[in-house]
Amino acid sequence: MKPSQQQLAECLKSQLDVVLKELTDLRTALNTYAIVAVTDKNGVIIEVNEKFCQISGFSRAELLGKTHRMINSGHHSKKFFDNLWSTISSGQVWQGEICNKTKEGELYWVATSIIPFSGDDGTPVRYINIHADITQSKLAEVEARKMAFYDTLTHLPNRRLFKKRIQQARQSMQSQDYICALLLIDIDDFKEVNDMLGHNHGDELLCLIAERLRQSIRASDTVARLGGDEFVVLLEHLDADLECALIQAEHIVEKLCNVMTESFFCIDKDVYITVSIGFTLFNSDARQLDIIKQADTALYRAKDRGRNRVTLFDTALQVEVEKEAKLMADLRKAVAHQEFCLFYQPVANAAGVVEGYEALLRWKHPERGLVTPAGFIEQLEKSNLILRVGKWVLQTACSQLAVWGQDRSTEHLTLAINISAKQFLDSNFVSDVKQALTDSNANPRRLYLELTECTFYRDINQLIEKMKHLRCEGIRFSLDDFGTGYSALNYLKRLPLDCIKIDQSFVRNVPTDPNDTAIVRCILELARVFCMDVIAEGVETIEQADFLHSIGCMIYQGYLFGKPMSLDELPCLAELKGERM
Ligand code: C2E
Ligand code: CA
Ligand code: CA
Repeated sequence: MKPSQQQLAECLKSQLDVVLKELTDLRTALNTYAIVAVTDKNGVIIEVNEKFCQISGFSRAELLGKTHRMINSGHHSKKFFDNLWSTISSGQVWQGEICNKTKEGELYWVATSIIPFSGDDGTPVRYINIHADITQSKLAEVEARKMAFYDTLTHLPNRRLFKKRIQQARQSMQSQDYICALLLIDIDDFKEVNDMLGHNHGDELLCLIAERLRQSIRASDTVARLGGDEFVVLLEHLDADLECALIQAEHIVEKLCNVMTESFFCIDKDVYITVSIGFTLFNSDARQLDIIKQADTALYRAKDRGRNRVTLFDTALQVEVEKEAKLMADLRKAVAHQEFCLFYQPVANAAGVVEGYEALLRWKHPERGLVTPAGFIEQLEKSNLILRVGKWVLQTACSQLAVWGQDRSTEHLTLAINISAKQFLDSNFVSDVKQALTDSNANPRRLYLELTECTFYRDINQLIEKMKHLRCEGIRFSLDDFGTGYSALNYLKRLPLDCIKIDQSFVRNVPTDPNDTAIVRCILELARVFCMDVIAEGVETIEQADFLHSIGCMIYQGYLFGKPMSLDELPCLAELKGERM
């Protein structure tokens, strides 16, 4: 049986009710969870939901009749929108992420689907825009990208981004004719500044430094923080002529040095710093690794020369630094394989009798033969190797003193050893000396420690205490190379010294040079006032010895009395007594 008209109508109505209900539910769901706008075929807004108004900050009335240009952030290119329009106008769904702007001007991000609804002729008549707010995750993404490329403390580009910039600079130099410079900047003694200010304020200072650096260069140049207190600057578009580029770079380097020495206002006070800069010029041929290494080499040299220095990289510097590195490596081996030995130079009295010796270090280099300290002592001192070598000298010299002490013909001999500043300042020094004396059973009264003036540039009271302590054991102290440093009379008065050694540079020209002669006379007079002995170093001729004798200098050291010798070369011990000039 066919259904009646009424039955059919009722059935249709109930189906329509279901569809309507589903549509209403869909609309409610959409309104609750999505940001929706409906536009006509020209993009004019004909409907928006509450969520759209909320996120955009515009009222419904303000939006209706307008286009999405109202909320355009300017973030996307024209091409982006062209592509969007060509997709939807051809009846396809467009999906993507859009950055919009609220009425207040703030940016927000939405994940968007635009669904076209076509009319009878098959072309779209309406578009439904369904958006989801993704601002938070977008911001997190931006933040993560920032963290990957920017220093979190100073917000300057980090090492990674900086390397990219060098890469870009090298590429653009291939088509454009110019030269770039790379400047490595290191803050002198930042550790001390940091300790003085406290860690947090040290960070604050780093930010101020970063900001000042940024302001001191052109916007097209880059300043980055490599970590710690090390900054780097990339100067682009310097002249294509190398000499002109160098002048330009030097000019900027000088400017940076100057602005860095101006005070920084940090925790209510003015803080002053200096910087060391190493820099290099490069063109598109240079390899990135080499550029950074070159600037690093130059910085190393700048630091090495003392604070507040600037060094330009050149090939001569490269050779120099490589030589130094080789020397350091050789010295490490020398320490490990014990390639050192002591030579002994006689110290004679007015009668020409040898009263003792000075122990002088020699390096038995496997290829270069015997090397004197001029070729390596500075490197030993720069590294802490001097502590190990110095300790060995101490032990060896004490053993030798002990051997001499066992023979009546040599028991009177003294032995002087050179102590570098670093060694004397080391906290273990006193105990090392005592240990060496105990182990060897040497007589401390026969031991002289020779110190140079540079040892006393720091807290002198502490050093005096150390000296006094060792003097109680019977050890005596000489001031070596006197006259070559600041020779401040103030400390000469205070130091518990037994002997002054006149540097050979003054002795060399006596008695012919009136200035040197006057200086030697002065030193003798000073020593007399302070009741100290005087040894004249570098006495090579009888004229020098006679003259020194005539003005009251009674102890000598120099080739006239004997060169530094190995133990085997020393005159037979029995001959020592009574040996004459
Ligand atoms: P120094 O302590 O002033 O030692 C004297 C230097 O003058 C020695 O050089 C010696 O060979 C040289 N000399 C001695 N008499 C004459 C002379 O008549 N004419 C000339 N032209 N030179 C003379 P050397 O052995 O090359 O030592 C150089 C420096 O190395 C020493 O100067 C000393 O400062 C340092 N040194 C040597 N041994 C040691 C050591 O064991 N430890 C430390 N820390 N430094 C050492
Ligand atoms: Ca000496
Ligand atoms: Ca000397």
